[in-house]
Amino acid sequence: MPELPEVETVRRGLEPVMTGQRITRVEQRRPDLRFPFPSRFQERLEGQSILSLGRRAKYLLVDLGSGDVLIMHLGMSGRFTIIDPAHEQTPGVFHHQAGGSSVHDHVVFHLESGARIIYNDPRRFGFMDLVPRASLESCRHFKSMGIEPLGNELDGDRIRALFEDKKAPLKAALLDQSLIAGLGNIYVCEALYRSGLSPKRRAGTLSSKRSAMKDKTDDLAQIIRDVLTEAVDAGGSSLRDFAQTDGSLGYFQHRFRVYDREGEPCLTKACAGTIKRLVQSGRSTFYCPKCQK
Ligand SMILES: [Zn+2]
Repeated sequence: MPELPEVETVRRGLEPVMTGQRITRVEQRRPDLRFPFPSRFQERLEGQSILSLGRRAKYLLVDLGSGDVLIMHLGMSGRFTIIDPAHEQTPGVFHHQAGGSSVHDHVVFHLESGARIIYNDPRRFGFMDLVPRASLESCRHFKSMGIEPLGNELDGDRIRALFEDKKAPLKAALLDQSLIAGLGNIYVCEALYRSGLSPKRRAGTLSSKRSAMKDKTDDLAQIIRDVLTEAVDAGGSSLRDFAQTDGSLGYFQHRFRVYDREGEPCLTKACAGTIKRLVQSGRSTFYCPKCQK
């Protein structure tokens, strides 16, 4: 499943091809993905100019001249490929490579430049929706959504306020999308490991007034940003069947320090611990019981 850094990588791949363009034609090849397409989907997109390409948590937001926002979610296996005849041979420009089967090409956006953006999704857990910009924050996708981890809102004070009195394990609280939106399993494991905080500790303990705890919580906020930013910079990871917009696989996974390293030695300096795995809320948590307290 693509996590936030992968979605941001996709956004960065699509942005130069889509922004400022007009959508000339839309091929919608099914009535639904995970959910039905909104009514008059093609009609509301064709002829519209693309003002900008944004992201909120793991949702891509295409701002249209009509005032609508096209919301796109990649689900488990969604991917975009770009066929851009104008830039086929230009190094560094995202272009089409042999990727998933075209049987699963569900939507094709034709742009005025001649470029085509193809949405392929074998498992069809992704979806698209159209929402007027004015009601974006209150729409069903975003109304209960927590703060953006890469935005300016996330800091130690905010974590203390969000987690105060929370009895849930810290790992579960960090994955709670109504508190912080878009943080996934891999990056939560990594952030907790780098912070030296146990995934099993009660989330509410981060709101403690003790200065050592205060420092740890401040650090955690910064580490969450660092972990995500590094992943975005590395082009996103490519676990399972996710691919970047250019069809190539990402390469961040070999840099995980704790995720998927059960039984291997802890990489923290002077720690002789061994990485353990435990299951929390149905997801695997990887951690070092020696240096994460
Ligand atoms: Zn350790």
